[in-house]
Amino acid sequence: MLNKMQDLKQKAEERIPQLLSIEEINEFRVKVLGRKGELTQMLRGLKDLAAEERAEAGRLANELKYNLEALLNRQLEEFKARELEMRLAEEKIDVTLPGMPAHRGSKHPLTRVQDEILEIFISMGFSVAEGPEIESDYYNFEALNVPKDHPARDMQDTFYINNDILLRTHTSPVQVRTMEKMCPQLPIKIVVPGTVYRKDDDATHSPMFHQVEGLMIDKHITFANLKGTLMLFAQKIFGSDVRVRYRPSFFPFTEPSAEMDISCVECGGKGCRVCSHTGWLEILGAGMVHPRVLQYGGYDPEEVTGFAFGMGIERISMLKYGINDLRLFFDNDIRFLRQF
Ligand SMILES: [Zn+2]
Repeated sequence: MLNKMQDLKQKAEERIPQLLSIEEINEFRVKVLGRKGELTQMLRGLKDLAAEERAEAGRLANELKYNLEALLNRQLEEFKARELEMRLAEEKIDVTLPGMPAHRGSKHPLTRVQDEILEIFISMGFSVAEGPEIESDYYNFEALNVPKDHPARDMQDTFYINNDILLRTHTSPVQVRTMEKMCPQLPIKIVVPGTVYRKDDDATHSPMFHQVEGLMIDKHITFANLKGTLMLFAQKIFGSDVRVRYRPSFFPFTEPSAEMDISCVECGGKGCRVCSHTGWLEILGAGMVHPRVLQYGGYDPEEVTGFAFGMGIERISMLKYGINDLRLFFDNDIRFLRQF
């Protein structure tokens, strides 16, 4: 019996380090330590031994059992560790492989045109100012010489949050906001880009659209300064051979007021579908700042004068790129956006 145990011990110590999978380890465990395993059989045979022999053999058998269990468990642990290492090695990212191609986006056409407009005015010494889109009735209407119940409000119906708070209908509230901040300093030369809201919705009107506002205030500013500034702007954005004309108009916050047309970018003035056969395209509204607006801003209209203008970025973009439906700007269709 003792010899058989010795043999088993030797055999197991040789064999166990060669076991290379969980299956092999388990198989060996069953073969030796299982219910019908070699060692289990031996332990069962102990009862047939003489009493003095039995004690020693029992001790050795239990010791052997304990040692074999330990050896098998260690082999199993080692195997698991090796397997983890292999998996980690396999899953390691190869940084030398070519990457997934990333789609390169482009600026939205409205952002492009807005940047272009701002750059032109910045090059003429204007600086960029901004204001809130949720605006008070005071800055949006009253301080721009549009009192409550004045019919001019019908031109700019908007979304009200309550009686005094609304979504601004134009970027013009930033005029008085800036004057209040600057007064009594001179000159004021700002361009104001931003999102504005009105209750319109069709192929050429969106309830949300974008404007660039301009304001210049100083001593001795005349309509000639307005014309010179806007002429230069039109030439820079539409080309040096563009012609402009002014038509008298009405805005509550300028006096006199005018709308500026450019010669048709499509036909050059001969008349076509784009310009409704007039040869001219309306691109912006402008005028000399109304004395009451200067007063609201804290300036004395006897001392200073100024001009203001405002244009829709969508309108300029449509003319510049020949886009016929304003809603295309907001559909986010990649086939449209990719063209810019
Ligand atoms: Zn035309």
